[in-house]
Amino acid sequence: MSNINVCNKCDLIVDHIPLEKGKHAHCPRCNTLLYTNKIFSISTILALSITGLILVVIANVFPMFTITLLGVGESATLVQGAWALFEQKFYFVGLLVIFCSFIAPFLFLSCLAQVCLLLLTKRNTPQLILLLKLVNFHTKWSMLEVYLVSFLIAVFKLSDIADIEFQLGLLSFVSLMFISSLIMYGLNLELFWQKMERNAKR
Ligand SMILES: [Zn+2]
Repeated sequence: MSNINVCNKCDLIVDHIPLEKGKHAHCPRCNTLLYTNKIFSISTILALSITGLILVVIANVFPMFTITLLGVGESATLVQGAWALFEQKFYFVGLLVIFCSFIAPFLFLSCLAQVCLLLLTKRNTPQLILLLKLVNFHTKWSMLEVYLVSFLIAVFKLSDIADIEFQLGLLSFVSLMFISSLIMYGLNLELFWQKMERNAKR
């Protein structure tokens, strides 16, 4: 966590002071908002990450949509979609689909859930710092939204030539995106580090 903030508007350098929950820091010169102390507690983040994990599984196991082309209907799951890409020799795109829709969100949410559990049960195990670093790294590289947008564009293009009916898998995927955005909005890792230090002192 950096110890200084630079104002976006007037470039004033301001020391980073930890804030109370829900408080905001403004630039002393031009009053632009500098940073906030986001509001979700560790148990809220835990609940969201467990919900997210369930959604990742549903999104990958159940069909995303049914395509009806020339009277023939076919349902497709994410895994089938990725497999179809492999068969067409689009290996990189296929891997990207698997990575963005399953591996990355699953790893992120399971690391986050473990971090929350360890902090809430006051167990400072050696892997806690590693897990926290992984979570921190992932918050800078969340690709779910990018993937969903490109996916939706592809589906809408396809809907010109075929009838598309959305299924449970897609609903879960959209909900997963919502949950993941909510986590990104409310996650304050500073709160996590502070909690870890407090636990260590006991
Ligand atoms: Zn300013």
